[in-house]
Amino acid sequence: MYPREWPPVYDNDYFPPKDSRYWFEKMETMDAREREKVIFKKLQAQMEWAYNRSPFYRRKWEAAEIRPQNIKTLQDFQSVPFVRKDEIRRDQEETPPFGGYLCIPIGEVLRTHGTSGTTGRPTAFGIGFDDWHRIANAHARIMWGCGIRPSDIIFIGSFFSLYMGSWGALIGGERLRAKCFPFGAGVPGQSVMALRWIKDMQPTVFYGTPSYSLYLAELAKKEGYVPRRDFHFRIMFFSGEPGAGIPTTKRLIEETYGCACIDTGSTAEMTPWMTNAECEFRTGMHLWNDIVYTEVVDVKTGKVVPFGEEGVPVYTHLERTSQPMIRFWSGDLTMWTDEPCPCGRTYPRLPNGIYGRADDMLVIRGENVYPSAIEEVLRGIEGVGGEFRIIVTREKVMDELVVQAEYTQDIANRGEKNSGVFENLQKEITTSLKSRIGLRPTVELLEPNTLERTEFKSRRVIDKRDFIKRVQ
Ligand SMILES: [Zn+2]
Repeated sequence: MYPREWPPVYDNDYFPPKDSRYWFEKMETMDAREREKVIFKKLQAQMEWAYNRSPFYRRKWEAAEIRPQNIKTLQDFQSVPFVRKDEIRRDQEETPPFGGYLCIPIGEVLRTHGTSGTTGRPTAFGIGFDDWHRIANAHARIMWGCGIRPSDIIFIGSFFSLYMGSWGALIGGERLRAKCFPFGAGVPGQSVMALRWIKDMQPTVFYGTPSYSLYLAELAKKEGYVPRRDFHFRIMFFSGEPGAGIPTTKRLIEETYGCACIDTGSTAEMTPWMTNAECEFRTGMHLWNDIVYTEVVDVKTGKVVPFGEEGVPVYTHLERTSQPMIRFWSGDLTMWTDEPCPCGRTYPRLPNGIYGRADDMLVIRGENVYPSAIEEVLRGIEGVGGEFRIIVTREKVMDELVVQAEYTQDIANRGEKNSGVFENLQKEITTSLKSRIGLRPTVELLEPNTLERTEFKSRRVIDKRDFIKRVQ
């Protein structure tokens, strides 16, 4: 059952009753105030653990005059300073390879993962043996909540590399005793092969990025498959990008594949990253906060915001012995609520998912524009095809927003006979974007398949202005 000791030890053979909606029913459905007591106990143990073993946390907290024993409530906990990405990067430079916040002997690191390092020095993640088992149990529990069962076949269509997502889905699936199919991605020709394997093996669950699932659907059509008819996915769960939480993208994936599209994921530093995850009702990601305690704080003041308001998720491990993150500033943006979900879980939710990064936000002519809002508009317009780009330039003193969108084959066919079709589509996109983001963009229509596709996370924003955006 639910472990009471700390560090927690999970029973790797535990299973809930077959027909149960929950993995740990009592914990998932208990009064939120009651659960705070459990959370706080784990939090204290986690802080003590870090304070006693990590020069990084000891130094940081002493400078802020924080002692774990003086934190007596979750309210007190809000005085603990944030941990930021550049800070842990710097710390790893000073104390290589895993930083002064590695709280286990280096010989006990079971797995090394890391960031891709595309935007600066990569960060190394060292995960201990015990943590790896806890991560498996956390993911299994959350995947059960998504509706995945031991009878499922899980097709993992993402990179098996330093990227944590694929491995997390795999160990979670294995702990669930589901049939795992770690197909991977990224090798030339692999996507065409994927289609054949999916047709033949009939996996029932897909894991990857939303971009890749849409790319795969386009490729499937080109190769003569009809995803709804020829594939058998009943659940597709995603992380790595916000798409699965954007309503129109979610609907598009669900209609294309005839499946439930489930949004999950926080960030690799926070492995188990799936502690933000939707349940089968898909009402926005629940915060599974007895595994990772999540606060949503104001982007400027850093104070916890009330439910119903927007802010940055700040994450705290509650059962990580190797590299605990305590008040990790994710830099993402979300809105949280405690309104009940039909599933009966009492965890708070992010009804609109994570819809951007504070540092992804574009400020165009003084307006705050999130790329995810543009995606939402485009995916909701009939006739807009698979890919798009957002280009921001500056002509003289004025910012210009250019949105390039591919049209569908259907529009291409109809447009051949009547060029008014293109004009109408262009007008519809312009008006819809104007009313959503408050700016009139220049819309350029492109033929189907003009833009590059991705097998991983898409890069759809090109900011050509020669100044540094500062949001915070
Ligand atoms: Zn729910």
